[in-house]
Amino acid sequence: MDKTYDLIILGAGPAGLTAGIYGGRSRLSTLLIEKGMDGGQIVQTDAIENYPGQIDQESGITLMSRMSVQAAKFGVERATDIIQEVHLTGPVKQVIGERDTYESKTIILATGAKPRSIGCIGEEAFRGRGISYCATCDAAFFRDLEVYVVGGGDTAVQEAVFLTKFARKVTIIHRRDSLRAAKSIQEKAFANPKIGFMWDSVVAEVGGEDALQWMSVKNVKTGAVTKVTASEADGVFGLFGFTGMIPGTDLYKGQINMENGYIVTDEDMKTSEDGVFAAGDLRRKSLRQVVTAAADGAIAAAMAEKYIEEC
Ligand code: NAP
Repeated sequence: MDKTYDLIILGAGPAGLTAGIYGGRSRLSTLLIEKGMDGGQIVQTDAIENYPGQIDQESGITLMSRMSVQAAKFGVERATDIIQEVHLTGPVKQVIGERDTYESKTIILATGAKPRSIGCIGEEAFRGRGISYCATCDAAFFRDLEVYVVGGGDTAVQEAVFLTKFARKVTIIHRRDSLRAAKSIQEKAFANPKIGFMWDSVVAEVGGEDALQWMSVKNVKTGAVTKVTASEADGVFGLFGFTGMIPGTDLYKGQINMENGYIVTDEDMKTSEDGVFAAGDLRRKSLRQVVTAAADGAIAAAMAEKYIEEC
């Protein structure tokens, strides 16, 4: 491709699409590159009810498809490509995809993060149908039901405590006999009468008709397998996986500052490299939600515009 864009955005999740809306609306020549379907992780969520301004519950797909239409309305160009390489230094940034090579004055990295899988048989089939990786997003759907949490780190234990506000009972399934979470977080969990533990255990398999109804849990020390089944009255239960996240940052390693694989930015979404911004879940931050990703995208695009003006 001969053209040098003002702005290239990598990833069409809420952060990338919002950056597109703001970039396009600011009359920056903007190219948004996505490898597959728009929307990122959130399209796997059946029901979103915490995006500001939403009155009726809606799916991730419908919310994100409106963001895509809105970005197109502001003249954002689109490319579908799988990026192989990026060159982030210097005044012109280069992105090499399987199909083409693209150049721009500024770039917004918005390739997200994905939760690490629980690693059990049947997991893919029950994502969004009983299996979740986000308590803030999905806890309310398990009001008065039983839920299980996989993991023993800060996120798992903290989210287990949060889930007790909704669920009747929360059981933490951890592969060892002690938690990795900070002591202060552990204390809250141990003191909570709604929280129970299955130690030295991993979820081996999940199943059900339409929604999650049973799982087998294996004790890694004894090899004993326990079948957990939803009570007849409940019919279903929830399983939350908090076994860590995998940020989509491999392509950028060695070119910008990162911490534990997450891109470090300032509050203007600036990375350690001039003209390179990061937005959304791949950024080091404390709350990963559609609303925070969208906010990151808006800030990143506004700062990209400012950077171009000042160059
Ligand atoms: P994490 O610290 O990497 O913990 C992941 C947990 O999942 C660990 O307990 C690990 O077990 C378990 N696990 C990993 N792979 C597994 C598998 N395949 N099957 C079963 N269990 C598995 O991840 P995190 O809790 O999301 O935290 C990420 C970072 O954010 C950490 O640095 C954390 O301190 C930080 N964080 C901080 C706060 C806070 O300060 N309030 C809150 C949330 C997160 P093992 O323990 O056996 O390895």
